[in-house]
Amino acid sequence: MSIIDDSAEKRSLNFIENIVETDLKEGKNGNRIHTRFPPEPNGYLHIGHAKAICLDFGIAKQHGGKCNLRFDDTNPTKEDTEYVDSIMEDIHWLGFDWEDRLFYASDYFQKLYDFAIQLIKEGKAYIDDQSAEEISKQKGTPTQAGIESPYRNRPVDENLDLFQRMNSGEFAEGSRVLRAKIDMTSSNMHFRDPIIYRIIHFPHHRTGNTWKVYPMYDFAHGECDFFEGITHSLCTLEFEVHRPLYDWFVDQLKDKNDDYRPRQIEFNRLNLTYTMMSKRKLLQLVQENLVNGWDDPRMPTICGLRRRGYTPESIRSFVDKIGYTKFDGIIDVSLLEYSVREHLNQISTRVSAVIDPIKLIITNYPEGQVEMMEAVDNPEIENSPVHEIPFSREIFIERDDFMENPPKKYFRLSLGNEVRLKNAYIVKCTGIKKNDVTDEIEEIYCEYDPETKSGMIGSERKVKGTLHWVSVEHSVPAEVRLYDRLFMVENPADESESDFRESLNPDSLKILSNCRIEPFAANAQPLDRFQFQRIGYFNVDKDSTADHLIFNRTVPLKDGWGKIKDKA
Ligand code: ATP
Ligand code: MG
Repeated sequence: MSIIDDSAEKRSLNFIENIVETDLKEGKNGNRIHTRFPPEPNGYLHIGHAKAICLDFGIAKQHGGKCNLRFDDTNPTKEDTEYVDSIMEDIHWLGFDWEDRLFYASDYFQKLYDFAIQLIKEGKAYIDDQSAEEISKQKGTPTQAGIESPYRNRPVDENLDLFQRMNSGEFAEGSRVLRAKIDMTSSNMHFRDPIIYRIIHFPHHRTGNTWKVYPMYDFAHGECDFFEGITHSLCTLEFEVHRPLYDWFVDQLKDKNDDYRPRQIEFNRLNLTYTMMSKRKLLQLVQENLVNGWDDPRMPTICGLRRRGYTPESIRSFVDKIGYTKFDGIIDVSLLEYSVREHLNQISTRVSAVIDPIKLIITNYPEGQVEMMEAVDNPEIENSPVHEIPFSREIFIERDDFMENPPKKYFRLSLGNEVRLKNAYIVKCTGIKKNDVTDEIEEIYCEYDPETKSGMIGSERKVKGTLHWVSVEHSVPAEVRLYDRLFMVENPADESESDFRESLNPDSLKILSNCRIEPFAANAQPLDRFQFQRIGYFNVDKDSTADHLIFNRTVPLKDGWGKIKDKA
């Protein structure tokens, strides 16, 4: 049975699906369901965003609704078209589509500005000449009322004049702000005359120098949802306390006789062990060259996971497993690894690759002879296709598949011992050659039993160990990159921990440059996926070429990180 099944039927509905279905049953919003995914284009998307994307796009799709992509681009100093482009690519790759509904908060700058003017005219907003620090000091605490600004009762005409002059570039950044005039004694801190517009003298990636005042996220977000007719505005739990403010703004805007308003529902943010999800800190990793860019396969970004060999199906199935709740927690990263392993097991072609080669010579095999052995592409598939793998007198096996002085129960190769070579023959070890100086084993000698060819009657003879191998003459060189967790501590983002840089894992990337792979895999194209028999799941790196093959390990075959030594 496939685990990669996107149908919601087989599990019970989550609390958000329940709300949506009830709203639909009650005929709310004219039976429409319309969601949006609202990223700020100030970084690349990560696995946490995938959780939001699967919900926003998924729930709309399940109920015949629509989902908009809306870039929340209200802060020109941090935003960039590079991020816009990457976000669109990642959403499509995950398997979702906004069709013709691509929007930007900046599409609404004029409408938002007009709304601010309306609030000023109605005496519900004023220009404050104090600095952000002073304003913040007057906010009070949840148990203590705030202090009213000395500018709170400025006449409307003066407010209008100042706001227009703020926008024409007359005043310095930080010299004045526009605040909503709500209630400095409210028990909800967000109601204590929130700042709704600030001055920024920095060109915007879409509107250039048109604007000198920019709406705050809290002011823009709810209105954008309202302008777009969003019915269910799904977001993470930290926005719960902002919801009454968003509702207040919409109340000032909407027709009193129309009962439509976006309904905000909050769900828990995804946190993963050994992973950091803050965009600001991920940017730091990139800028300080602690990783090799946003798509470094150790990054929790969508592009990093893609380069690492994750499939969209495995990410969606992971999100489905963790679900949506009202409680923040931290998910074990091994669940994500399990999800991709499960999918790759179904789809990956098995090949032989020797990542730490040592030469094995079959002394009784005719020199110059080559036999084409048959290898099953994927035993998980019924009637799987097969491919050929050339066998010859000299082969490579893994260095750690041989031991001179093996412990008890060692079923791999040792002197006088027999093993099966996968898809080929049973061989018995007759000797080794060592380096005189270093004492390192340089060659292993074996004899094969011609009666035991794979698929023949004699092959039924039982031996305990089976090794993978490649032919020396026919295999091709490759570079293999083994990734481990980027951080050594469970919660690297925890502020109480010391600087997150100190918990970086120094062994998170190991490059093996002397690997050999069977010729069948030599024509692999970037992003192709394989199982290297007995080692793990790998994909071809985007920088791989025919002359320099590069494979990334997505995950080892079994759970247990860095245990490449324990393959058998
Ligand atoms: P910022 O700190 O820059 O606001 P952000 O991670 O909230 O970062 P946004 O671009 O605002 O980034 O996020 C877009 C959407 O993705 C929001 O609706 C947000 O709630 C959701 N989201 C972000 N991080 C997670 C996460 N870890 N788990 C689930 N949803 C998330
Ligand atoms: Mg955000």
